[in-house]
Amino acid sequence: MGYSISPQIKDILQCPTCLGQLEVDQERNELVCQEENSHAFPIQHGIPSFVKSKEIAPEDAKWVFEYDEKAEEYDEAIKKYMHG
Ligand SMILES: [Zn+2]
Repeated sequence: MGYSISPQIKDILQCPTCLGQLEVDQERNELVCQEENSHAFPIQHGIPSFVKSKEIAPEDAKWVFEYDEKAEEYDEAIKKYMHG
């Protein structure tokens, strides 16, 4: 399943590290900086995440992980609801 980012939004996105232009890498599901390839940001549920995992405190990371798990369940529940 592919999430995509609308061109309008992509055009205003800038790399938070160097302000370079960001391009969507569909295969990696990341926004990749055109100035510096190592500046890459994962797209989660169609929303670019500009927070690097290692910059999140362990106690917050656990919470983020649990939230992601719940979000998956939520998505599944919505699908079941939508398709009966
Ligand atoms: Zn950059």
